[in-house]
Amino acid sequence: MQFNVASLLKGPVGAIKKYDLEEHVWQHLTEDAELIGPLSGHVQLMRTQNGILVTGTLRTRVALTCSRCLEPAYYDLAIEVEEEFFPTVEVYTGATVDWQRYTDDEALLIDAQHILDMSEVVRQDLIVALPMQPLCDETCKGLCPICGQNLNEGVCSCEREAIDPRWAALANLKMHLHK
Ligand SMILES: [Zn+2]
Ligand SMILES: [Zn+2]
Repeated sequence: MQFNVASLLKGPVGAIKKYDLEEHVWQHLTEDAELIGPLSGHVQLMRTQNGILVTGTLRTRVALTCSRCLEPAYYDLAIEVEEEFFPTVEVYTGATVDWQRYTDDEALLIDAQHILDMSEVVRQDLIVALPMQPLCDETCKGLCPICGQNLNEGVCSCEREAIDPRWAALANLKMHLHK
């Protein structure tokens, strides 16, 4: 996800370059999120007054851990990127640019060789797109709280009481009606 933007920086405001991406960038997005597909999509780079505006749509597939049964949970992630990047040196003269005027985020800086690297921005966007409570399936039954049996694979012989609060309320109501 690195682009040499020297020619774009020399071009007029509004000049555009488009790229198709298909890259294997990281194996692990976070400690428990593994990328299991390439990062693919389209990216557009546009010269702005002060830098380069990157817009694009990217998608990939991740393996997480099911929050109920601890088996793998697979998700397709899609993100929309829209960030403006800023040069650190002037493209014609090589003079230092006072980039702090435009941003305080170093992930948005174009280096002295005019390489724009969008990987950190994409990584952050993907992390934000991760589900908070991953599920292998919406109907995952989870683990038996007593013996740890995966209840998707079969029932165990533990005596589990009906702890569902709705049933408890109903039982209460019945008792009152019988008084
Ligand atoms: Zn599960
Ligand atoms: Zn059990």
